[in-house]
Amino acid sequence: MKVLVINAGSSSLKYQLMDPESREVLAKGLCERIGIDGRLTHKIPAKDAKYEFEIPMPTHAEAIQAVLDALLSSEHGVIKSASEIDAVGHRVVHGGEKFACSVRIDDAVMAALEECIPLAPLHNPANITGIKACEKVMPGVPMVGVFDTAFHQTMPPKSYIYALPYEYYEKDKVRRYGFHGTSHRYVSARAAEMLGKPIEELKIITCHLGNGSSVAAVDCGKSVDTSMGFTPLAGLPMGTRSGDLDAGILEYLMGQYGYDMKEMMTVLNKKSGVLGISGVSSDFRDVENAANDGNQRAALALETFQYNVKKLIGAYAAAMGGVDVIVFTAGVGENDAITRYNAASGLEFMGVKMDAEANKVRGKEKVISAPDSKVKVLLIPTDEELMIAMDTAAIVKG
Ligand code: AMP
Repeated sequence: MKVLVINAGSSSLKYQLMDPESREVLAKGLCERIGIDGRLTHKIPAKDAKYEFEIPMPTHAEAIQAVLDALLSSEHGVIKSASEIDAVGHRVVHGGEKFACSVRIDDAVMAALEECIPLAPLHNPANITGIKACEKVMPGVPMVGVFDTAFHQTMPPKSYIYALPYEYYEKDKVRRYGFHGTSHRYVSARAAEMLGKPIEELKIITCHLGNGSSVAAVDCGKSVDTSMGFTPLAGLPMGTRSGDLDAGILEYLMGQYGYDMKEMMTVLNKKSGVLGISGVSSDFRDVENAANDGNQRAALALETFQYNVKKLIGAYAAAMGGVDVIVFTAGVGENDAITRYNAASGLEFMGVKMDAEANKVRGKEKVISAPDSKVKVLLIPTDEELMIAMDTAAIVKG
């Protein structure tokens, strides 16, 4: 079976054509500058080949058509006929309280996705546009929506309710939703597989640390708490996002600088996090280089990030009444040994003992805790596309 995985943004679209059974990625790539001019980068992993094209993409429909043309091309294609694409899996950012798992897309699902737009005004419209473009270019091919929020729908009310007047939850749906759910689900399932134990017997803390970061508490395979909230601005400090802060700061800074709400949100979303503290970059590699060169603010940014990851590990162990496994994943979690070490060291009191040598690794599945550590610490590269393709295949096959 071949599944086309689509992740549509407002002016970009990522794709992967893969076989969810063999896990082989036949082709993958990126459409950029949709609505401006249009650029396609197309890669064939088996040949280690990369192609770049300038193709007019006034809308997402032309972008999808360009992807199809690339997949079918006699020179750089990987399939002979569009009918070889058995299904399309779409990443959808927000499923609200309506979607606790992946679903086959039909008219009722499309209507529900439209209803979720106010919850993710930047992301969901782009996802919907991507779905409509596929419907137009590939009519009749079954499509599945896989939601970033769905995995966290198992959180109990005490984890998701904000201490605000209850009507904001009832009328306005203001609650913690959590994001990166597909990644937390994938790595928690892989952790159980790696350890050869049923996930129903494990308490797992998954640390998705990338440009955007979140930590989740996964008890018996179900998310019971997570650090992102109503929006992906909450929780850990990130590349450019502040993470949690005292809401009173908003009023104070808006008064000091005459910011309107939009300007204030730009500060919190784009100018904060490790970029804000360090003043150097949102990229952890740059911040680490600066810290190694003696930049004190860069060192403080990294220390603050690592300290906040550690605090969440402690909090979620308390929330679950223990922890068996801690997983690190995503750009920083997979590549940055120092962040992993500092976030998970000093936790011997709760049975976590890192192995500095084993931790010297990048981008591959490995146990990085000491052999006598009660809690296993694992590095597991995330694979959201594979999860989307697997869900899509399972749903389409019924
Ligand atoms: P993601 O959002 O998961 O794609 O993660 C992207 C981030 O991973 C980048 O912004 C970098 O900060 C970080 N990253 C990638 N490689 C490394 C590395 N070798 N060391 C530290 N951070 C890294």
